[in-house]
Amino acid sequence: MARETGPVCRLCRREGTKLFLKAEKCYTDKCPVKKRGVPPGQHGLGRRKLSGYGLQLREKQKAKRYYGLMESQFRNNFERAQRSTGATGERMLQLLERRLDNVVYRMGLGGSRPESRQMVRHGHFLLNGTKASIPSMLVRPGDKISVVEGSRKNPRYENLQQLALGRVIPDWLEVDMDKLEGTFLRLPERAEIDTPVEEHMIVELYSR
Ligand code: SF4
Repeated sequence: MARETGPVCRLCRREGTKLFLKAEKCYTDKCPVKKRGVPPGQHGLGRRKLSGYGLQLREKQKAKRYYGLMESQFRNNFERAQRSTGATGERMLQLLERRLDNVVYRMGLGGSRPESRQMVRHGHFLLNGTKASIPSMLVRPGDKISVVEGSRKNPRYENLQQLALGRVIPDWLEVDMDKLEGTFLRLPERAEIDTPVEEHMIVELYSR
C-alpha cells in the first residue's frame, strides 16, 4: 500500500497545524510546528494569499494527511459518504474515525496513527476475537478490539499511560487498559471529533 514517505513534520508545517504523526515528539517543545510555525521550503514565509480553490485544497490535504490516506483512498471514502444519508462532511469524518487504525490510536493503544497502522498490519489486534490486520477495516458500534495474547508482553504495553501520552479517550469508545481491550460504542458526532478541518470545504472541492 502506498503511503507518504519523507519527513512527516514538514507535512504539519505545510498545513500549519499539528497532525500528530510522530507520537512522543508531538507532545513536546521539540515539535517543529511549535518551534517555527512557518511552511517548509525556501519561500515558506513569502507565500501568496490562497484562492478559494487553494483553501479548499489545503483542507483536503490536511484531512488526508491527518488520517494517513492516499488520494484514491480518501476520494473513495468521500464518495461512500456522499452515497449515505445525512451531511456528507460529517459522514466522511465518521467513516475516517471508524477505520481500525484510527480506533486503535483513539483507544490509546498506539502512539500515533502511523504507528497504530503498522501495529494493525503486524497483526497485534483482534476484532471481535478474530485477527484483524487491515488498517482500513471499518469498526461498527458494538465491536470489540483487543490486543492478541502473544503481543501483550510487548514492552510498549507495559506503560500504557506513557503510550497514550495523556490523550483523552473519547466518549464513543470504552477502554479497559488492564485487559488491553475496548468497545466501539457508537458513531461519534461532529462535535466529538477533534480533527482540525473544515469538512464543508472538502465537500465543496469535490463538488466542483
Ligand atoms: Fe512533527 Fe508531531 Fe509536531 Fe507534526 S505534530 S510537526 S509530526 S512533532
